Amino acid sequence: MTAEVIDGRKIAQSLKADVAREILQLAADGIPCGLATLAIGHDYGAASYQRRLERTAGELSVPYRHIALADASQPDEVRAAIGDLNADPSVTGIVVLRPLPRHVPEADVFCALAPVKDIEAVHPQNAGLLALGTPRYVPSTPAAVFHLLDTWLDSAGEDRADFYHRSLITVVGRSNNVGKPAVSLAYDREAAVESVDAWASRAGRLGWHTRRADVLIVAAGSPGLIRSEHIRAGAVVLDVGINRSVDSATGEDRMVGDVLFSDAMARARAVTPVPGGVGPVTDVWLIRNTAAAARNQAAGHRNAAGLQNSGQVAR
Ligand code: NAP
Repeated sequence: MTAEVIDGRKIAQSLKADVAREILQLAADGIPCGLATLAIGHDYGAASYQRRLERTAGELSVPYRHIALADASQPDEVRAAIGDLNADPSVTGIVVLRPLPRHVPEADVFCALAPVKDIEAVHPQNAGLLALGTPRYVPSTPAAVFHLLDTWLDSAGEDRADFYHRSLITVVGRSNNVGKPAVSLAYDREAAVESVDAWASRAGRLGWHTRRADVLIVAAGSPGLIRSEHIRAGAVVLDVGINRSVDSATGEDRMVGDVLFSDAMARARAVTPVPGGVGPVTDVWLIRNTAAAARNQAAGHRNAAGLQNSGQVAR
């Protein structure tokens, strides 16, 4: 079997055309729309994500700024930087890039975000709405995974509901920004769901879980983690990982996912490549959420009362 490659760049292009229209409409309506990212210290995956977002925001004419804090920054400095962005009316969406240094608790930082600007849905209010199946914002990476999957199902002539109802979706990785929300989105589609983390690998049971999956979503940050023996023949494999690998022949840096692509090509029914799979759709989705947040702010969904009416849902 040779798998079909799910072309993230092509799917992102068509999503981008819709988002570009919405950005133009916001400008015509006099509503500001701007994105800010904040990083604490340096991480390869986060730095690559930040560069991509800067490029995509530029392509869509969305004002963008990046705040880079030193690795040694204390939680109160991080909260102060977020407070400034919360108060800035030109910033409608804020993304705190992960991973955070160990001494900066994730929950502390996420709680500091103004919920209406929290376009990655990590604030407890937004994470809760997502878990309830009524999201204010669907976080960009898991949203991209399911947008790719839905689009591919349509192109393959599969009925989405029927496919999901008879599928087991296994998510490798349980981070707050990718793994956990991916599980919520899988629940929403009424699939059977399984979630595994590093303990499955330590216990030597990773393959036992992943081999049963009809849809395998991998977000572990571990290059080459998923090989032929982890993949059920005919599965759909979505690789979220962004890892740095040094080419042994040329010594050059290259980006690889968590899945050994050649193995997935030989065994799966369809697979997303890295680069060119989940990443490009994630970037456009994030701008889409920034635009939805701009509308929500213009409509005055600024406080906890927004729980009654959580604003525009970017599904
Ligand atoms: P993270 O916060 O480090 O979480 C990684 C998760 O994977 C953890 O739950 C960890 O388990 C699990 N894990 C690690 N090694 C494993 C193994 N050997 N077997 C099974 N599970 C394992 O990372 P993240 O933020 O979710 O990101 C994951 C990857 O996706 C990274 O490469 C990141 O750069 C990439 N990413 C890509 C995009 C995109 O747009 N494509 C966006 C965001 C992130 P424990 O919980 O037990 O430690």
